[in-house]
Amino acid sequence: MKDYSKAHKEVIEVRKSGVHGHGVFALQMIPRGSRIIQYKGQKITNALGAERYDEESMDSHHTFLFSLDEEFCLDGGKYGNEAKYINHSCSPNCEAVQEGSKIFIDAIRTIRKGQELTFDYALCSDGELPENWEEFYACCCGSKNCRGVMLAPEEIADKAAAT
Ligand SMILES: [Zn+2]
Repeated sequence: MKDYSKAHKEVIEVRKSGVHGHGVFALQMIPRGSRIIQYKGQKITNALGAERYDEESMDSHHTFLFSLDEEFCLDGGKYGNEAKYINHSCSPNCEAVQEGSKIFIDAIRTIRKGQELTFDYALCSDGELPENWEEFYACCCGSKNCRGVMLAPEEIADKAAAT
């Protein structure tokens, strides 16, 4: 396995991506299985994260929080790096791998030069989903298996069961 996480600037860069604002793109071919970058951010409690990103005042989900467990998350908006700009896809070429309180982004497919990196956010919410959850978490990844929202499949099943 190739590990670029100590030198990720050699293989990826942030660019403006028409659809989602920013995106992260491969500067060279990245073999499947490679470790690309560590998702950096300040480790804070989920409660503080919810305070920093007041989702109730937003029209759509937009935070740099990466959930670690029931209590803590990483805030890529503070002390973060390029990883916070990696967009969601329901049919991604990367996955987020947790090792303790560290998160790494690994390639699950070979990524061609110029391709955008994506991983499946599989978001979960601790509390109630907002009324307009379908809009709020809307996904526009355009993949064949798009779930329509960036929520984890089990989150959608829960919601469907509740309504
Ligand atoms: Zn999608």
